[in-house]
Amino acid sequence: MPPLMSNHGKYIVSMGNVCRWLAEQAEALEVEIFPGMACSQLVYEGSRVVGVVAGEMGLNANGTPGPGYEPGMELRGKYVLICEGVRGSLAKELIAQYDLSAGHEPQKFGLGMKEIWEIDPAKAKPGTVTHTMGWPLGKNAGGGSFIYHLEGNQVLVGFVVHLNYANPYLYPYMEFQRFKHHPLVADLLEGGKRVAYGARAISEGGWQSIPKLTVPGAALLGCSAGLVNVPRIKGNHNAMLSGIAAAEAAAAAIAAGRAGDELTDYEAEVRKGPIARDLKPVRNVKPLWSKLGLWASLALGGFDMWVANLTGWNPLGTWKHGKTDAEATGKAADFRSKNVELISAASFTSSWRASIISTSRGRSRSSCSGAREWGFMGDRKLQGFWPKHMKLCNPKRTKPQIQHAKSRP
Ligand SMILES: Cc1cc2nc3c(=O)[nH]c(=O)nc-3n(C[C@H](O)[C@H](O)[C@H](O)COP(=O)(O)OP(=O)(O)OC[C@H]3O[C@@H](n4cnc5c(N)ncnc54)[C@H](O)[C@@H]3O)c2cc1C
Repeated sequence: MPPLMSNHGKYIVSMGNVCRWLAEQAEALEVEIFPGMACSQLVYEGSRVVGVVAGEMGLNANGTPGPGYEPGMELRGKYVLICEGVRGSLAKELIAQYDLSAGHEPQKFGLGMKEIWEIDPAKAKPGTVTHTMGWPLGKNAGGGSFIYHLEGNQVLVGFVVHLNYANPYLYPYMEFQRFKHHPLVADLLEGGKRVAYGARAISEGGWQSIPKLTVPGAALLGCSAGLVNVPRIKGNHNAMLSGIAAAEAAAAAIAAGRAGDELTDYEAEVRKGPIARDLKPVRNVKPLWSKLGLWASLALGGFDMWVANLTGWNPLGTWKHGKTDAEATGKAADFRSKNVELISAASFTSSWRASIISTSRGRSRSSCSGAREWGFMGDRKLQGFWPKHMKLCNPKRTKPQIQHAKSRP
């Protein structure tokens, strides 16, 4: 692997703990934090963004005010920095309103799932990181796994499925369950206990999909800007670097008496500084994988990354993604249902997953981040296509292929 993929000498941390610690530091500096409420609208004055509406509660699933509706409050600032993670509702509005993706490649997405396990202490190897690519997805989709050994006999086991797969029957959650049945993974988890589960989308377009980052009064940061390094499955470093760069640009602007204009210094720093040095060398990995499949892309992408690492120049230039994930979806009639059902100590049904998920998004509580729309299917007409994430096994069509113990702990 090229050195830019190496994890040696780095720490494995819980980002939840890091964020809690960071929040304490911020509050000690008199920064006000409003946990538990979403920003539901941008506030404009002419063509400038001047703030957000936060804390609007009691909306119905379709966005209309429900019986317990409470209006939010308008928070105004000299600059509004949008850090909503992947495909946030306000970021999407900004990108559409100001046509920020014009001249850039379409954003690509993956679905990442992660479980925290407490394992047999004899099998724990704190500091060990394992990444895999491909299996069990085969030619059906791109993706891979990660296993991080933390302290306290805990391991993080995760699986990412690229969302540009054609087969609309493919069920990413069940592919993750299948992954845990690989003998090496099953052996690691044998006798262990799953203590938490989470899932989140990942922006995978990389360097060529980063939109224009600034508009008058606002800027996009972190995963709202699509700053994930795809082959490393890492984006926290760039989210932090973008936060530092935006804060420095805004502080300098305010000190100079400016407000509500474009933070062009921020965009310049992202496109020339450490974020660019991280993302540019790996920019061909994702499009090569999508177009050539795993093995050819490993060879070509590895060559491209090695040369970029040694010389700072990518011999393959810049490959394009060409189309959105939604445009890659095939018609249901052209595919057969896979219908794999796994029931064992290592795997879990999706209803069990829902029972321990640590995120709560009561539909009538708040209007957070686009939960009420199809998201990654884009504007494509759904007729003839199964929604990718909504495919459930149809027991009448095929028998389950694998069935282990009937009960789960
Ligand atoms: C399975 C998986 C494994 C990963 N592993 C790693 C790894 O090992 N190392 C690494 O560096 N990166 C990893 N990443 C990527 C990493 O999680 C992201 O790049 C990083 O979290 C980006 O930070 P962010 O602040 O931009 O977005 P986020 O961490 O997503 O934070 C955005 C926050 O804003 C909130 N929000 C969204 N909309 C609104 C709104 N309208 N109002 C109020 N709040 C809102 C969200 O709820 C969220 O809390 C992984 C991602 C996945 C999915």
